[in-house]
Amino acid sequence: MIAHAIAAPTTPTRIKWDILAGITIVHLGALLALFHFSWSAFWVCIAMQFVTGLGVTVCYHRLLTHRSFQVPKWLEYLLTLCGVLALQGGPLKWVSTHRVHHAFADRPNDPHSPNKGFWWAHMLWLFTWVDQLDMPEKFTKFVPDLARDPIQRFLEKASTMLNIAFGVLLFALGGWAMLAWAFFARLVFVYHGTWLVNSASHLWGYQSYDTNEGSRNNWWVALVSYGEGWHNNPHAYPHSAAHGLRWWEVDITYLLIRFFGLCGLATRIRLPQGNPAKLPSFKPVVMPKIKLPVPSLSV
Ligand SMILES: [Zn+2]
Ligand SMILES: [Zn+2]
Repeated sequence: MIAHAIAAPTTPTRIKWDILAGITIVHLGALLALFHFSWSAFWVCIAMQFVTGLGVTVCYHRLLTHRSFQVPKWLEYLLTLCGVLALQGGPLKWVSTHRVHHAFADRPNDPHSPNKGFWWAHMLWLFTWVDQLDMPEKFTKFVPDLARDPIQRFLEKASTMLNIAFGVLLFALGGWAMLAWAFFARLVFVYHGTWLVNSASHLWGYQSYDTNEGSRNNWWVALVSYGEGWHNNPHAYPHSAAHGLRWWEVDITYLLIRFFGLCGLATRIRLPQGNPAKLPSFKPVVMPKIKLPVPSLSV
């Protein structure tokens, strides 16, 4: 069972220097935005942070990890490409790590629990090698659905090269300003929006449901993460396409999924049982034990 598949956390012994170098370069590259500016670069930056940020939230998270709705394969691949261009790793690796997070949230095998400190949960965990999460032959066991798909496997393998090619394309189109804004600065914004879900949304905010771990609903994280900051709700209802469940919990990611639904492109959109609007009002509700989205995993 997956419970036995993840090694107990050990003191960091192996640093992922390639990831550390890559993320450092992205942050240093974003400083170029202070010296190079054009309005076209600015607007491409705004557009691409939505495209790639929502690629992560709509596709990597709610579609591929939790299968909270269905889309035609061509759209799944297109949305996966949007997620790939957020430079957070390929779909198999991202999804496997996140499935493990849900299975062990804030317990010893959680890859990024703030129990080990805010900065660990925010970004330091990214630089630390864990066999079960970093070796393809091990982490693919957590994503058998994606590992069967040759297109997803291709996107996994090509994810870094696709980002480099995209950076070169942006530079060719708009020079240093385009590279600084639409590539580096945009990546920094999307990075920290995603990372705050792992750090701040497991520390600060309110809990609508007693999920027996630290996930929180946090409005300011939701603001910079396309609705993902409402993070206690999906820990209670991992299969829900909507993470914002109260009227004030604005969830841009879910609005886009609903839009795909209205266009006939998204089907079987899953929500908590009953109408979310009629869920018990803002007070703790004891939920049954949460199961891993892919409970049949074994090693
Ligand atoms: Zn979480
Ligand atoms: Zn999730």
